Amino acid sequence: MKNIDSISGLRQQILSGVVSSKEITLDILSKIEASDLNCFISLLDAEEQARLIDEKIKCGFTGRLAGVPIAIKDNMRYKGSVTTCGSKILSGIDCEDAEVVKRLKAEGAVIIGKTNMDEFAMGSSNTTSAFGPVKNPLNNSCVPGGSSGGSAAAVSAGLCYGALGSDTGGSIRQPASYCGVVGLKPTLGSIDGTGMYALSQDMDQIGPITNCVDDCKLLFEVLSGRKLGEPNCHGLKIGLISEFESWYDTDTYKVIERAKEVLSAVGCTFVTLSAPSVNAAFATYCVLGNAQSANNLRGIGNEGERTQKLGKEVKKRVLIGEYVLSHPEIIEKAKRVKSRIIRELGAALEQCDIIISPTAPSKAFEFSADRSRKEIVYSDIFTQPSSIAGLPALSVPCVNVGGMPIGVQIVGRKNAEDLLFALGKLFEA
Ligand code: GLN
Repeated sequence: MKNIDSISGLRQQILSGVVSSKEITLDILSKIEASDLNCFISLLDAEEQARLIDEKIKCGFTGRLAGVPIAIKDNMRYKGSVTTCGSKILSGIDCEDAEVVKRLKAEGAVIIGKTNMDEFAMGSSNTTSAFGPVKNPLNNSCVPGGSSGGSAAAVSAGLCYGALGSDTGGSIRQPASYCGVVGLKPTLGSIDGTGMYALSQDMDQIGPITNCVDDCKLLFEVLSGRKLGEPNCHGLKIGLISEFESWYDTDTYKVIERAKEVLSAVGCTFVTLSAPSVNAAFATYCVLGNAQSANNLRGIGNEGERTQKLGKEVKKRVLIGEYVLSHPEIIEKAKRVKSRIIRELGAALEQCDIIISPTAPSKAFEFSADRSRKEIVYSDIFTQPSSIAGLPALSVPCVNVGGMPIGVQIVGRKNAEDLLFALGKLFEA
């Protein structure tokens, strides 16, 4: 736990009058002002929001996020702001809040600002943002991960009490792992994505990034409208995917060792299972993801604007996407592999209660390593399979390697978020 209150702790202080939402909000705004991490693309009318919430609290309002500053990724709409998606091509002013913003506001959150991100959520290091890269708060020469790097870095640096990210192939979990915070990619479809720019709607999922598992659970409950229980983790059967093993190195192997230690202490047992098609998850993700994102981008700007204003990574993916769109047989094949991945992971989850792996194949890499691109291409190998299968996946800080964290990824059956949180909490003890 960081040197910052939990969301419920802060809410208690605000409701009992120890501190006002306005005081907290001004404090956060001054921290953002003083920070050179580049976590935010824009700030919102937070002081005014806080003032109104303080008034409501005086009249008896007790929302679950009463007065708490929360950040949102800049691919989600906020009425009166420009949602940039980390790109120079978008400049329209939003007429309506995204559904998730409505839900946060209904519980009294102060939406502090919109976080930096890889352009159109395409990237793993935040270096494709048109607004410049975000620095990792734990080591400024390292990337924060991506594409929700601004959200993860802002939470890690104490520039908000929680943040929303979006995850298509790992964009919540991988930055959470790199920045030492908790990140949930919920079950596909469990949080309404209305008002978020789609990258690939068959995999996109909004989710929370927080300092601790309880905060993550609280935000998930608010966003999904679900009430979660507290299942017992004793004696669960934990699955390890054998195909993942060849991708472990000495650092990530430590994640497995530590996870075994933590989980066997509560009587869990381990079983190694095979899901051969995860080897094709990256190719499947590229074909299906880029086809959908190319299609989505056709509607943005005119051709001249796209040539002039889109960054290299986006242009490259549009080219790949347009190519596969004109070769339906490639898409058909990728869909068949997707079905196999869903089947194999489903079968694995019938033989165990939960699957664990490292969240990412390394700790956060240095900006200088970004150019080799190897790190970017490989950084989602453990997260893409559960994205393709629509399964919920939680990343919790697990080990520290040379001062930098690596998370453990906990994947469950659809709608098993309660179990993910219960297990995740064991890693905080
Ligand atoms: N890093 C992955 C990519 O570049 C994931 C992106 C995402 O989840 N939005 O496509």
